[in-house]
Amino acid sequence: MITHIDDFLENTARRFGTKTAFVENEKSISYGDFNILSQKLASEIAKFKLYQSPILILLPKGIATLVAFFGVAKSGNFYTLLDEKTPKERIKKILEVLQPQLLITSKDLNFDLNLPTLFAEDFESYSIDICVLRDIKERHIDTNLLYVFFTSGSTGIPKGVSIAHKSVIDYTFWVCECFKLNENEILANQAPFYFDNSILDIFSSIKSGACLHILPNALFAFPHKILEYLCKHKVSMIFWVPSVLIYFANTKALDHFNLESLKKVLFCGEIMPNKQLNYWRKLLPHALFANLYGPTEITDVCCFYIVDRAFSDEELLPIGKACKNTELLVFDEKLKLITKETPHKKGELFVRGCSLSLGYYNDREKTRAAFLQNPLHKNYLDLLYKTGDIVAYNEFGELLCYGRVDSQIKVQGHRIELGEIESVINACENVKNSACIFKEEIICFYESTCELDFKAYLKDKLPSYMFPKRFIKVESFKLNANGKIDRKALNEL
Ligand code: AMP
Repeated sequence: MITHIDDFLENTARRFGTKTAFVENEKSISYGDFNILSQKLASEIAKFKLYQSPILILLPKGIATLVAFFGVAKSGNFYTLLDEKTPKERIKKILEVLQPQLLITSKDLNFDLNLPTLFAEDFESYSIDICVLRDIKERHIDTNLLYVFFTSGSTGIPKGVSIAHKSVIDYTFWVCECFKLNENEILANQAPFYFDNSILDIFSSIKSGACLHILPNALFAFPHKILEYLCKHKVSMIFWVPSVLIYFANTKALDHFNLESLKKVLFCGEIMPNKQLNYWRKLLPHALFANLYGPTEITDVCCFYIVDRAFSDEELLPIGKACKNTELLVFDEKLKLITKETPHKKGELFVRGCSLSLGYYNDREKTRAAFLQNPLHKNYLDLLYKTGDIVAYNEFGELLCYGRVDSQIKVQGHRIELGEIESVINACENVKNSACIFKEEIICFYESTCELDFKAYLKDKLPSYMFPKRFIKVESFKLNANGKIDRKALNEL
């Protein structure tokens, strides 16, 4: 019985101990060595006598981060990863919500968060305490948390999505079965490790004994370099965000490469336009293409569509049907069920299953608002996650996703709530109020008596992908009947 994500690693380390698990630039590590290193770290963490406590990891994407993930998991605790570029203000807000008990970072990053700290440079020097690790494993149950990922929150306070081992285990079984992964698979990772798309890359590789190449995010600005890398290392499977696939298609990058090893192209995170997908399909006629859909709250993916027919450039690509062990329900505004029998009727998508997050960390109110009792009955506790996405069935019974109900947007695969940007802008001196809209780019309207330059102000407060592209000063906002800023009017300006 698999109850701990580490059971996948232990099995694979036994079967394929000398096989390369991860490759990062010129470095690589075998499954056996990776297991030993994470046991060393877990034993050191165990000295702090923590159990199911939050541990913050502040490291750039790489092998050390993965060792930290497994070190934390083997120690019976759960992790939150932030990368080294996270603005100080965001770290502060996350610390307030998470209250971590330990920090894992690297010496050259120079973080001092007034927490007990372990450094990646020392992992190798720690000693393994097999007895302690065995005791921790015996105590473990699969509803224990594995990680808390922070997404953008509309009040300006990031939301910590809490995910249990069972959800990642369930998801990983599905990925490996559905896409037939085995030890010969070679994957190339694009997703940052604090983004839930990386869950597929990391845990499916480990379960199947595959090899995962960790590509630096900056390299994706150079499609030729990435494609050269895929050819050289005979990469067989990728799971990237659509914006990257779109960029590669727009620059016609694939024209110059023979990617015969690449057999599986999966994507998730936002709508993938058929125009660019058709380019990929034309150049890789023998590859499998799959559109995966899902929010962080249901462990990466709950719905998938394996592309099995031709689409015109203008058509909307389906998100398909539920993954195994997951149920998708579509409700109208009155919470009346919409079924396949009424194609094209739009409603909001709700999800139920073992993949559901256990809620927003340390925030019962937001948890209650997003995880609701199944409106079809009151007989027992049966929670659904309210996705906030508008969907409809097509005539084949497949789901189509039309985007967000609320003001959450997606930029380059990053989920952003405009309210979070507004709350930072509102905090700026001389700003009376602000409202952001999304019209192909983020536009910020602000009420002030003077023209302001926000560049320097925002630098330490928001990640750059959240910076508005345009700022427009207004004398005063037009209000709607409820006394709120009339956002519709802003959209029409
Ligand atoms: P995140 O929690 O950052 O993964 O963002 C989840 C949101 O991204 C979903 O609620 C959708 O709005 C959007 N999304 C994810 N995958 C897809 C997809 N394949 N097609 C359309 N939208 C998607």
